[in-house]
Amino acid sequence: VVSRDSGAKKDTSDKIQTYFESAYNFAGIERLLVAGRLDRAFDVLLEFSPLFDQAVLIVNDAKYGGSGGWLATTSVHVNAPEIALHEIGHSFAGLADEYWAGEQFASERPNMTRERDPDRIVWKNWLGYKDVDIYPHSEDPTWFRPHQNCKMRVLNPEFCPVCTETIVKRIHALINPVTSHRPDSSDMVLTIIDSIAFAVEVVGPTPNTIHSIWKINDQMVSRNVFDFTLVAGEINDDLQDIDLSIVDTTLFIRDTVHQKMQTVVVSWQVQKEQFTAINDFNEFKGLRIYPNPASERLIVEIEGDETNSTSPKRIEVLGIRGQRVYNAKMWQNQHVIDMGKLKGGSYLLRISDDDKSSLLTIIKQ
Ligand SMILES: [Zn+2]
Repeated sequence: VVSRDSGAKKDTSDKIQTYFESAYNFAGIERLLVAGRLDRAFDVLLEFSPLFDQAVLIVNDAKYGGSGGWLATTSVHVNAPEIALHEIGHSFAGLADEYWAGEQFASERPNMTRERDPDRIVWKNWLGYKDVDIYPHSEDPTWFRPHQNCKMRVLNPEFCPVCTETIVKRIHALINPVTSHRPDSSDMVLTIIDSIAFAVEVVGPTPNTIHSIWKINDQMVSRNVFDFTLVAGEINDDLQDIDLSIVDTTLFIRDTVHQKMQTVVVSWQVQKEQFTAINDFNEFKGLRIYPNPASERLIVEIEGDETNSTSPKRIEVLGIRGQRVYNAKMWQNQHVIDMGKLKGGSYLLRISDDDKSSLLTIIKQ
């Protein structure tokens, strides 16, 4: 969008016209620089960046000023980058000023309170760390701030630990650290034959403080890795609950309730293949099937006298519930079964002629 003029109105008599109608002296406070047409700013964002988490309006005016609200606002004054960070502290994290901004701005916030009891104050976890304490505002000593030298009070120092924690909590609220996981069919029971490889992709800070805990049936089996292989031989026949907990263990957070709330749990259920109660049996002495497990082709061979039969043998592949998924006649002493289209799992191979039959478990890989 284009404005007729550059800069911002300094007072109501100023003739400067801008698209967002930016003006200083909001509510009679000279440095309060606010867009008069927040609705237009919102429309521009909806059109060009509808998924925005935080927007900053930079007003093309060199005079010192800025404001919070949902749209953090700063000018192009030499201190603008610092002002922008301070205003983002308001807009993004809901922080209060730690200087005395006036009675009308005083309210209970993560970094402003009337609570003076060190056991109950909202920043009680931080008392004594990096000069965090309960400092009264001299202008109204019934209100307290956590620090004397925080970016919410003066430009250039860092955010104090209390404000930093609040900002990190806000980031946690916006971001799911797990961007993908596999197998992704977490709402059904997975069948395990030999093993299953589980893995997640995570997004985290630098250095990465995202930690993981893998549990099988509530027992921890692995931690601080993002993949895990479950081997069939290590579990019993019961349904297995596989849970992966992902949590950011950053030292910027001391709120254990928050840590618990923002823990992401990915769950799977796994069970070993449930075989039917039929025992394999084989009446063809020269029968050989290979490879088993098979992925593409399963070869059935019968050697010796049994190939001299005048009638063909029947070959069937049955699913574990008895449904027939393959049916053919075997005229020669070797037959190839195309396994390519079958789903992975166990099947029964039935071979029969007028006199004999075999029933064998085969596995499609
Ligand atoms: Zn602070």
